[in-house]
This record gives sequence, structure tokens and C-alpha cells, in this order.
Amino acid sequence: MKIASHLILTLISLLFFQMLGMGQNAECGTDFIHDTRMQNDSAYRNQFLLFESQVDSHTDNQASSELKSLIYTIPVVVHVIHLGEPIGTGSNISDLQIQQAIAGLNDRFRNVNGLGVDVELEFCLASKDPNGNSTNGMNRVDGSTVPNYSANGITPTGNPCSGAIETAIKDLSRWPVADYYNIWVVSEICNGGFVGYASYPLGGLYDGLVIVSTSMTSNSGTLPHEVGHGFFLYHTFNGDGGNAFCPVDTDCLIDGDHVCDTPPHKQGDCGTTNPCTSTGVWDNSRYNYMAYCPLVNRFTQGQKDRIRATAIVAPRASLLNSAGCETVGLNEIGSTALFSIFPNPTNHVINIKADLTLVGSSYLVHDNTGKTILKGIITSENTSIELGDLSGGFYLLSLGENLKQTFQFIKE
Ligand SMILES: [Zn+2]
Repeated sequence: MKIASHLILTLISLLFFQMLGMGQNAECGTDFIHDTRMQNDSAYRNQFLLFESQVDSHTDNQASSELKSLIYTIPVVVHVIHLGEPIGTGSNISDLQIQQAIAGLNDRFRNVNGLGVDVELEFCLASKDPNGNSTNGMNRVDGSTVPNYSANGITPTGNPCSGAIETAIKDLSRWPVADYYNIWVVSEICNGGFVGYASYPLGGLYDGLVIVSTSMTSNSGTLPHEVGHGFFLYHTFNGDGGNAFCPVDTDCLIDGDHVCDTPPHKQGDCGTTNPCTSTGVWDNSRYNYMAYCPLVNRFTQGQKDRIRATAIVAPRASLLNSAGCETVGLNEIGSTALFSIFPNPTNHVINIKADLTLVGSSYLVHDNTGKTILKGIITSENTSIELGDLSGGFYLLSLGENLKQTFQFIKE
């Protein structure tokens, strides 16, 4: 009897997790929040419409832009608003999970699977904080004291659900939006109602992206989807009236999702044919990161043009000039009370001299995009890391408690 009930419980939880995976984008809250504000907040509506016309005209010009082949790098700060768990447990996800989530995000924007286009835009975890100090780009705050957070998570502004007030959660930890793209990792949104939502790019103190901790992973479809909204992509089915009708697509640059190579469709249509139209490349919509379909694997050229047109106008343009991912000057780092690293620059080996109390902790070598190159354990007070055939350039070495200490080194 006991075994049977255990089996049933296991089956129920397996089913639950499968549903979460299938429906992860179906629970995106961006449009719900945006539509509410468009109806109720005339200042927001005016600002939004003005910004949209700006981006639409830039998108038109993007093909001739001299900036088109430049790779844009966006500094990111991740705020983990946890429930008081130890690091690496529950909503207080580990540094490594966050680094891997950003690496996975970059893989999708850079089209590593080869199925879409390379947006030539990527994200780096901040290495310099707003005061100019070295950082790993992650902040952790216990949000359990904010009323209703433990029970229901965060409530997006304008939503009637009974979680914590959005601004109260974001005020726990946020960095200037002009220099960093802010990502808040939360325990829940509306008691499980949504897995993520993002602000369309209008700036303001609370601009950024909110995602539940279980979706902040290396293979997340939610993270690229929400970042897409943050760079002004709509859903591929934008204008379908909630799966009610085929979106109008008379002028593809200003109708539907304002993108011409993603055929208009209804959000529930993900099959082998598109009931709305037979023209265009259907796979570009049904396999798109901005669809609600179960298998997503691409951004398109039209979306790339729109993302990049957004990146070069205010408020996102200032991110391109941010110092957030510059490394702190070499003579300012290289040693702390607990560590020193040498030689720097180096050819083959980087040595770590660590305080005895930190033997047994881990280290991580990553590049400026947050991609992990090497990892291991500090085995003694003097640990050597073989760099092998790493190509020459700048790297970051994170180590110590929760990998909070980050040093830059140069491989010659
Ligand atoms: Zn969405």
C-alpha cells in the first residue's frame, strides 16, 4: 500500500514537471501586464506608441546600418530574491546555475544550434558593480520578510493576484537600468500563475525581467523568450485576440508582431500546417522562441533587425556604452586577503594561493560572456590550474565562498 501510494505520487509529480516543461512559455505574463497598462495608464500608452514608431522606422533602416555586423554585449545583473534557503537550495539557486543560464541564453541569441539566425547580441554577467568594484554580477536577498512573498511570490504591477508588491521586491536589489539589464529571479509569480515576464523597453526604475527560479536554467525557453520581449519582440501570434482569430498582416512591419519573416498565426496553432496562411516559412513561427509552441529553437532575421534597432535607441542604447562588463583594473585585483593569483599574464598555468580556510571550495574559469571554460576544486593552499590550449585573451577566475571573488587574468 505504501509502495503503491509512493508510486502514484511519483507519477503525479512526473506529470506535473512534464506539463511545466511543455507550457513554460504559455505562462508568460508580459502581454497581460502590458495590455492592462495600455488601457489604464495614458502616460505609458503615449510613451509606448512613440517608442514603437521610433523602432519601426529604425528597423526599416537597419539593413543599411553601418552597425549591422557589430556584436553588441549587454551587461546583466541577476538579483536572486529567495526565501531564506541556503545557496544552491530551492529558490536560492546556485551561482553555477545562473552562469549556465546566461551561457544558454547566449547560445540561443548567437544561434549555436544553427537553426535560426545569429542575432549578434550577447549578455555578460557584470564584472564591475555600480561603484566600480569587482563583482560576479549576482546579488542575493532574502525576500521572505516582504508581505505575501513567501506564500505567493511577486505580483506584477496591475495584476490582481495576491503576492508581494512588485516594486517592494525590486527595491530589495536593483542596479541602474542605464548600465545593467536587471534580471530578478523569484520564487513564484502570482502563486504559480506565470513563469516570467519582462518590461518592454521603456526604461524607468523597474525596467527588466522577472523569472521564476525553476526557469532560470541553461536549457530554459523562458529566458530567451522574456529577453526577446525586453528587446521589443512581440509574440509571433501577436494580434490573435487570445487564440480567437488570425492576426491581421496587411503591412508586416506594423501589423501582427511587426516582423515580416514570421507568418501570422494563432497561439494554439503549432502543427505541420498554418491554418492562417500558407505563405512564408511556417517553421519560423511555430519553432520561434516567441511562440507558445512546445518546441522552440530560433530567432529570425526580421526579429534580429528589430532587436538590434531597439538596442541602438534609448533606453537600451546606453547599455552598449556601459562599463558593467569591463574588468576592474589589473592592479586593483589579483589578490585579496584570502587569495592571490599568479603569474598574470600567464602562458600555461595560473596558480592560486588560498587561505587555508578555503581549501575544498570550488573555482570556475569563464570568459566575459559567462561561458564556463574550466572548473574544479581548490585542493590545497597552493593550487595550479592548467590552461592547456585555451586561446589567448582575457578570462575571469571566480573562487571562494559561493564563487564571490572574481579575478581577471590574461592568457598570452
Ligand atoms: Zn511572452
